[in-house]
Amino acid sequence: MVAAPDIQVTKVQHSKIKDVDFGHLPFGKFFTDHMLVAKYDNRKWESVEIKPYQSLSLDPSLTALHYGQSIFEGIKAYKDEHGEVFIFRPYDNFKRFNTSAARMNMPEVPEEIFMEGMRELIRIDRDWIPAEKDHSLYIRPFMFATDAMLGVHPSDTYLFIIILSPTGPYYPRPLKIVVEEKYTRAAPGGVGFAKNAGNYGGSLLASTEAQKQGYDQVLWTDAFEHKWLQEVGTMNVFFVIDNKAVTPSLDEGTILDGVTRKSVITILNEMNVPVEERHVHVDELVKAYQEGRLQEVFGTGTAATIASIQTVKYQDHVLEFSEKDWILSMEVKKRLDAIRLHQAPDTHEWMFKV
Ligand SMILES: *Cc1c(COP(=O)(O)O)cnc(C)c1O
Repeated sequence: MVAAPDIQVTKVQHSKIKDVDFGHLPFGKFFTDHMLVAKYDNRKWESVEIKPYQSLSLDPSLTALHYGQSIFEGIKAYKDEHGEVFIFRPYDNFKRFNTSAARMNMPEVPEEIFMEGMRELIRIDRDWIPAEKDHSLYIRPFMFATDAMLGVHPSDTYLFIIILSPTGPYYPRPLKIVVEEKYTRAAPGGVGFAKNAGNYGGSLLASTEAQKQGYDQVLWTDAFEHKWLQEVGTMNVFFVIDNKAVTPSLDEGTILDGVTRKSVITILNEMNVPVEERHVHVDELVKAYQEGRLQEVFGTGTAATIASIQTVKYQDHVLEFSEKDWILSMEVKKRLDAIRLHQAPDTHEWMFKV
């Protein structure tokens, strides 16, 4: 264990928890009473503070706004039936955060600030963690450049912040997705593997256009041919073909290395379901569907956990699935939920006690 950093704590006078309807929690809309703020300057992390959740005062020339040095993570904490609080695999998010930081030429956040700061913040706001089914506390760590200067340069100063949001189910309905053939999310050598804000900025037009056609999200493809499948919006993607689970491999650096993705791979291995991490061509998918060998398609991510996919559209092909098809994905979800809620043994030490 790492020593807790020197955190200055200022608590709210009055909690706003009573103003929140825990029966109606749209994703990422309500925030807890406190936040953690760490400041980087003079080549080191100078201060760590937990204080009332509040607005920030920022200079209009803030580098992050102009040139996009901005990264984030998404993590969930759960309360078990005994009221104990656990975070799901936060160490993996911590490592990925620093991988994103390195790619975006930003400083690393030390383990004691990220992990112990998060733990301390959650302890303070623990009453905000909902205990209902499919509910959790969404944790959003993020970091951005704060130099006040318009010259293009890696910033010398940064803020690392953690905010917390009680949340209900993310995708209550199965999704309809469309294979993207015009826009590109990520190319080799780019920043697709980093969880940086700009990846989302560049993706929004594609999802808006998909929504105009009646779809929820796009299935991203490679930059060159728009044939090789990558991932879906905020999620990694799995295809079940011939009783095998197939998911696009991470080797080109164009896909986010999801914590849920790797947890699902581990669970599938335990279920003795063969898993193939490899390149997946859209024609293979269509052919497998036509031959009745494509059994199910699902997305994985922290916000959504496992999202069933009802429709995949590619050109004139409409691949349809229904509740009776989501066998493997529902079994995986059940097993993952059981570990998260402490109803099954945590054999992989995924749960980090707060
Ligand atoms: C965060 C994210 C995912 C899912 O990663 P998890 O660690 O499972 O939450 C997948 N794709 C993209 C683009 C993401 O930003």
